[in-house]
Amino acid sequence: MSLELVILGIGSAFSARSWGSSAAVRHPSGFLLIDCPDPIFHVLADGASASQWNLTPDTVTDILLTHLHGDHCNGLEALGFHRWLRHRKSTLPLPNLYTLPIVAARLWERLAPAMDRAGEGCLADYFRICPLEPGQRALVGDLEVECRPASHGIPATSWRMRRGNASLGWSGDTEFNRALIDWLAEADLVIHETSAPPTHTGLPELNSLPESIRRKMRLTHMPDDFDPNATSLVPLRQGEVLVVGA
Ligand SMILES: [Zn+2]
Repeated sequence: MSLELVILGIGSAFSARSWGSSAAVRHPSGFLLIDCPDPIFHVLADGASASQWNLTPDTVTDILLTHLHGDHCNGLEALGFHRWLRHRKSTLPLPNLYTLPIVAARLWERLAPAMDRAGEGCLADYFRICPLEPGQRALVGDLEVECRPASHGIPATSWRMRRGNASLGWSGDTEFNRALIDWLAEADLVIHETSAPPTHTGLPELNSLPESIRRKMRLTHMPDDFDPNATSLVPLRQGEVLVVGA
């Protein structure tokens, strides 16, 4: 059993060349998004074109949200509003949104007032909120997902997911945190961010990791001046399709 995903974006918040770091994981009933950057309709269209999968704003069934920095969550407003409109006129369910309770508690504030609908709206009109505490596991399609707090200056989380024997770790945004990397490295593939410290992880720290971790690690959340010659770690490519456990 394998785990398949398309890399939607690899850029940091300041990238002029790449969409924000994000991915879509395929499962039997649709797609699980890892983060939801702007402009999400364009991001999804590019991911569909690259993968040749039926990845659309309507086939996103689930979202894992790492944190509330705009380059990771600004697409939620348009996607949520689109799905609210579709939900009213069809049987298409709202997307499930998994995140830490402390992140979910602030999400409505981030989306309003564009979606407030004259004071009558609420977050549950747009998403089915699924708060997930560290240590809990959720079944998303046929994927088992779990989270662990990251170190990023605001509440943030890393994710692990598993289908059968195939597993993926996704750091989200975090400063260098060796215990977190060890947790992620229990997975077959680790996708780790890199950008300028202190709230992000610099390349020297990742370069100093043991080879046993480095050989299963790929990089995302890169600035446009990222120098691939500064590391033997391989950066992800936007539009790349990864098959874990094949
Ligand atoms: Zn961030």
